[in-house]
Amino acid sequence: MKILVLNCGSSSLKYQLFNMDDESVMAKGLVEKIGLPDSLLTHQPAGGEKVKIATEIPNHSVAIELVVNALLDEKHGVIRDMKEIDAVGHRTVHGGTTFTQSCRITDAVVAEMERLVELAPLHNPPGILGIRACEEKIPGVPMVGVFDTSFHQTMDAAHYLYGLPYELFEKYQLRKYGFHGTSHRFVSMRCRELLGNPAESKIITCHLGNGSSLAAVKDGKVIDTSMGFTPLEGLVMGTRCGDLDPAILPYLMRKEGLDADGIDKLINKKSGLLGVSGVSSDMRDIEDAAKNGNERAQIALDMFVKTVLRYIGAYAAELNGVDAIVFTAGIGENGIAMRENICRNLSYLGVEFDAKANDCRGKEVEISKPGSKVRVFVIPTNEELMIARDTKELVQ
Ligand code: AMP
Repeated sequence: MKILVLNCGSSSLKYQLFNMDDESVMAKGLVEKIGLPDSLLTHQPAGGEKVKIATEIPNHSVAIELVVNALLDEKHGVIRDMKEIDAVGHRTVHGGTTFTQSCRITDAVVAEMERLVELAPLHNPPGILGIRACEEKIPGVPMVGVFDTSFHQTMDAAHYLYGLPYELFEKYQLRKYGFHGTSHRFVSMRCRELLGNPAESKIITCHLGNGSSLAAVKDGKVIDTSMGFTPLEGLVMGTRCGDLDPAILPYLMRKEGLDADGIDKLINKKSGLLGVSGVSSDMRDIEDAAKNGNERAQIALDMFVKTVLRYIGAYAAELNGVDAIVFTAGIGENGIAMRENICRNLSYLGVEFDAKANDCRGKEVEISKPGSKVRVFVIPTNEELMIARDTKELVQ
């Protein structure tokens, strides 16, 4: 079975074609600058060279057509007939409270996704465009939606409600949803496997990338996560501020003369590691600057470590103990120094850190010593494969 996995952004589209017989990637690629000048498709067949196709790509429908053509191409294609694509799995950001699991896409599902645009005005519309484009360009292909929020839907009301008037929750569905769910699900499932699939397990998953979040996963179910109503809550991130005294917002709006959009931009785009360091939103740049004596970069680094430690401590308490901690995503998989800084402060939980094992990037590895009371793993995330697996299960 061959499954095409799509991740549509407002002006980009990432894809991977999986052969689910052995879960191998047959080809992958990226369409950039959809609807903008200089739009470009970069396509790479497995084991082959990257091919760049610069052409006008005015919308997602043309983008999908180009992707299908690249997959069918005589030279760099990997299939002979479009019918070989057995199903398409779509990464979709917000499933609200409706989509507690991945599901087959029907007209009713798309209508519900359209209703949920209100909750994710930036992220859900491109997902819907991708679905419509596939309906047009790969007619009749079964499609599955995999939602970033679904895995967190097991949280109870004490965890997902905010301390606001209950009527506002009822009126606006104002609550914690959590994001990066597909990643937390993938790495927590793998971690349970590595623990020997025990019936009971307490795992803290740390997805540390440009956007970062933690999840507390008990017996395979999320009981708490650090992102909230939007992906802004929780850790200090690349350009997002993370947790804040909410009274700062009206204060700043008055002082700086900002309207709602202005304050939204400030806390989403100009804050976090970038805002504090003044250097960059990228962890590597910040680590370099800190090494060269940049004080604000050092503060940004320390803040990042502190917020991760704070959430690990909080989740260890909520779980009433921890069996394993997992690091994943760009910083979690590659940030050797960052992992060390975090793990060195977890001895109180029973983490015995193994510096030698930690000295690697992008690989699955256990970075706690044998016999450590709490085991610590680096597990590279693979959201695309998770989407392909869900898609296979739902269409079979
Ligand atoms: P992601 O959003 O998962 O792609 O992760 C992006 C983040 O990972 C950026 O902040 C990068 O600086 C960070 N990252 C990638 N490689 C490294 C590395 N070798 N050391 C530290 N951080 C890294």
